[in-house]
Amino acid sequence: MQVRVAAFSKINLLLDVLGKRTDGYHDVNMIMQGVRLSDQVIVAEAATNTITTNSPYVPNNKSNLALKAALLMQAALDLPPVAIKVDKHIPVSAGMAGGSSDAAAVLLAMDRLFALGLRRQQLEAFAAEIGSDVPFCLSAGTAVATGRGELIQDLSLLSPFHLVLVKADFGVPTARVYKAYRKKKKPVAGEDRLDYFLKLIREDDTLGILNSLYNDLEETTFSMYPKVRSIKEKLKHLGARHVLMSGSGPTVFAAFHTEAEAWQFYKKAKAAFPMVYLTSTVSRWDLDRRIGMS
Ligand code: ATP
Repeated sequence: MQVRVAAFSKINLLLDVLGKRTDGYHDVNMIMQGVRLSDQVIVAEAATNTITTNSPYVPNNKSNLALKAALLMQAALDLPPVAIKVDKHIPVSAGMAGGSSDAAAVLLAMDRLFALGLRRQQLEAFAAEIGSDVPFCLSAGTAVATGRGELIQDLSLLSPFHLVLVKADFGVPTARVYKAYRKKKKPVAGEDRLDYFLKLIREDDTLGILNSLYNDLEETTFSMYPKVRSIKEKLKHLGARHVLMSGSGPTVFAAFHTEAEAWQFYKKAKAAFPMVYLTSTVSRWDLDRRIGMS
């Protein structure tokens, strides 16, 4: 028997850095949004723990977050070994939580494989131990993330919108960006910005949301990696109106109300950049079908 889970990627619609904490992390206010572009994670019972992937860019050992998740659950709950297969489609080190999502998928898969019936809170505790983005990836819909990003509150799922993603041909280590981040005086206080965003989400005001996209880390990443700034500028120049860097970069997304607009823009972006993805935000339909057994 094996369990297959779609490990969705994410973008940040809002990423506001509030300040540095005593443990070295930063407190953040984020609105996270699951994206259909996903890895496929398959977990089966096995004689020993193994991990295989189709990507040369991710480790096939204990430093793979998917295997880390399995080891953590096994140690806490005395579970048997598993064979994990990760079919990667999410670009690596892209600011789209690919590794975190694979780890969350393994937690969900093991819960199902061994019929554990864990509560959401227990899964979230394992997830938070692996990394700040992992708790969000368990639910992968629309959520507010606070603390260092690990405290998740689900929101009503946004009406789907469409995305053209462009990734630079290099990765950006998140820790480097946070280390270089310098607090600046902001025109809108963090709490006000979050409250405003929450109001737009309650009203399902997609256009309002797209007009309010905000990422506090953009300037830091842009000054360290000017190529990321030029991706954003070029996307705007090509005619995209709602453009934002995701997470700490280097992926930049352009958001569109309709699939037709996104498709037209995708063709233009394809001609201008080597790594371009056409996708959309996750819907209830995607979430209902994300776990399967065979
Ligand atoms: P985030 O948005 O959470 O900061 P990211 O999308 O920028 O993450 P990942 O693709 O998760 O970055 O990869 C970050 C690092 O984690 C890479 O160095 C990669 O080798 C390592 N890694 C470990 N396990 C995985 C995995 N299953 N998939 C992708 N990367 C992994």
